[in-house]
Amino acid sequence: MAQDIHFDRAAEGHRPYTAAEDRYDTLGYRRVGTSGLLLPPLSLGLWWNFGDNRPFDTQREVLRHAFDHGITHFDLANNYGPPYGSAEENFGRMLRTDFKAYRNELVISSKAGYDMWPGPYGNWASRKYLIASAEESLQRLGLDYVDIFYSHRPDPATPIEETVGALDTLVRQGKALYVGISSYSPERTTAAKKVADELGTPLVIHQPSYSMLNRWVEDGLLDTLSEAGMGSIAFTPLAQGLLTGKYLDDKNAVPSGGRSSLAGLTEENLGKARELAKLAEQRGQSLAQLAIAWLLREGGVTSVLVGASSTRQLDENLAAAGNTSFTAKELELIDGITSGTGDSVDLWRTFSDS
Ligand code: NAP
Repeated sequence: MAQDIHFDRAAEGHRPYTAAEDRYDTLGYRRVGTSGLLLPPLSLGLWWNFGDNRPFDTQREVLRHAFDHGITHFDLANNYGPPYGSAEENFGRMLRTDFKAYRNELVISSKAGYDMWPGPYGNWASRKYLIASAEESLQRLGLDYVDIFYSHRPDPATPIEETVGALDTLVRQGKALYVGISSYSPERTTAAKKVADELGTPLVIHQPSYSMLNRWVEDGLLDTLSEAGMGSIAFTPLAQGLLTGKYLDDKNAVPSGGRSSLAGLTEENLGKARELAKLAEQRGQSLAQLAIAWLLREGGVTSVLVGASSTRQLDENLAAAGNTSFTAKELELIDGITSGTGDSVDLWRTFSDS
């Protein structure tokens, strides 16, 4: 038996991992709405950089670094990769090799909602799709349950009762502890929450796109979530890298083999990013840090879901949590610089009813 374990570890390229003892000392945790769930201010998204497009050792380095610095929440979906499914498979490998002893310290989420397999049952938010996809995700991850399972986008053709009913089934089957919705409009969020409450389903979180350059959630969604006692986790907080230093001097710095589309990388938006970078400097922050800190400001979101391709990026982003206070004047300045940009950076607008 001992030999088998040794063999398995060798096959996984196992390098022993013990999490940093001081991992809970700095970051702090924030309550998801009125639920019992706490999330770190920064969570790590595995949409891009954790598929088969990156060496597993690089992924492992970033994931270890994240957990060592207090990031307990890792966000996945059935279609994260590339190719689809590979981010869950790779994270499943990580769970076997490095994080196994820490499963109860992790909040792992997955989703279904975009095209996953051919035919009429591999897309949107029917009961047929959500239940089958959740099962496939668990198999790829090698888990019995995920901590949060999301309806990845609203489905205009499926009754909300059916979608939330499917999420409720997953909770009752023990396959999800909590459930969430992503990119739902305020109206559809209210409708979903009503059904969830009737069923007793822990619909605790909404995952919207939100950044200084993409502020649709301020048009009712944040208020709706607050009234419903739901939390929020902002995706694409750095506008896929536009709100970092990387494109400020060179618009063509998009890495080869990188993201297939980086919305809003225009001279106009880069001009705004440069102005924001000046404000960041005055605050002693980088542009990325300003972008994250602003989302975590009072009245902002529960957690910010960042992507990162290196430990250097992660360190820079983590430091944002150290200063999330803003003066009224700073907030006003940011409003002035960023007004009217939303549509150009919100890739998800066309997929949702927001
Ligand atoms: P993002 O945080 O706006 O962009 C991340 C990218 O910005 C990184 O991959 C990296 O680009 C660059 N970056 C990050 N930190 C940096 C730094 N300090 N300096 C320079 N560049 C930096 O978010 P995202 O990756 O678009 O999305 C984040 C997560 O949100 C996803 O992983 C996913 O979990 C979630 N998401 C959800 C939905 C949904 O529909 N619910 C949709 C999209 C995303 P490089 O990789 O080029 O280095």
